[in-house]
Amino acid sequence: AASDDGKRGEAPPQGAEVAISHPERVVYAGDGITKGHVAAYYRAVARWILPELARRPLSLLRCPDGTGGECFFQKHLGRGFGPQVHALPLRQKSGVEDYLYLDDEAGLLQLVQMNAIEFHPWGATVDDPERADRLVFDLDPGEGVSWKQVRDAAREVRARLREAGLDSFLRMSGGKGLHVVVPLAPAVPWEQARDFCEAFARAMAAHAPERYVASMRKDLRGGRIFLDWLRNTRGATSVCGWSLRAREHATVAMPLRWEELAKIASPGAFTLDKALQRAARLRKDPWDGIGAIRQALPTA
Ligand code: ATP
Ligand code: MN
Ligand code: MN
Repeated sequence: AASDDGKRGEAPPQGAEVAISHPERVVYAGDGITKGHVAAYYRAVARWILPELARRPLSLLRCPDGTGGECFFQKHLGRGFGPQVHALPLRQKSGVEDYLYLDDEAGLLQLVQMNAIEFHPWGATVDDPERADRLVFDLDPGEGVSWKQVRDAAREVRARLREAGLDSFLRMSGGKGLHVVVPLAPAVPWEQARDFCEAFARAMAAHAPERYVASMRKDLRGGRIFLDWLRNTRGATSVCGWSLRAREHATVAMPLRWEELAKIASPGAFTLDKALQRAARLRKDPWDGIGAIRQALPTA
């Protein structure tokens, strides 16, 4: 905010003070997308991404040589991240380790400056990291599963969650699948979150074994959808809505209203450009209300 000249009649965008070095550096070679484009993207969608991203422990996927080069996941606070990115000391087997989180647009841009492309938050907040306040059912289609089948599967997960008294929200992963997200308030210990999600996935797979598997084994997945419940353990993450994916093309993970799903023609429907258009048109968060829901896991 130090550069407000007071003449344009509006405050400069938050995060404007973060300098992006080498904006000309190519990130997605096939699409001609540079680090400058990536930074402009995250600035433009900051308002929509931050509610899900801020104040949660994060893993980053960093690609210093672009998405065609070597990319690596990082969950610890490294050196040189600047004052906008914060440390969260968490106990691990080996002792206390500094995880990282941000709380505003400046932190987001600082991580983009460090070549972070993908953002993967925990389903827990920095204020209560030992308890899950978001469950994720990660639908991973095996070989030969159509997009229509994936969409139907997400709707079935939603219906069964509703039978269990739980409202859910939908996210395109930006990869091949969909994520069904369940907010919990009050939050629950990770062990309870995991047990519920495993039991839920196993019950669905037992009921329709021709469509679903609940086992991680890849050889069982052919023609079926893996209901990946393993995102619901302490330290696990899932990609944040509005995060770019470091895949061949600049696809984006996208939160949707359930009613929108029918119109989505393919899992890669949202690219950087399409996501920018959506952000510019959007009036209301597709996950509007998620923060106000109070619901608990069923006891049985
Ligand atoms: P797709 O729809 O193509 O499956 P996805 O994002 O769901 O995309 P998955 O491989 O199913 O990809 O992984 C689910 C989530 O688990 C990811 O969004 C990510 O947060 C986390 N994850 C997966 N692999 C890793 C990894 N090697 N290191 C850290 N986190 C990972
Ligand atoms: Mn997945
Ligand atoms: Mn998965």
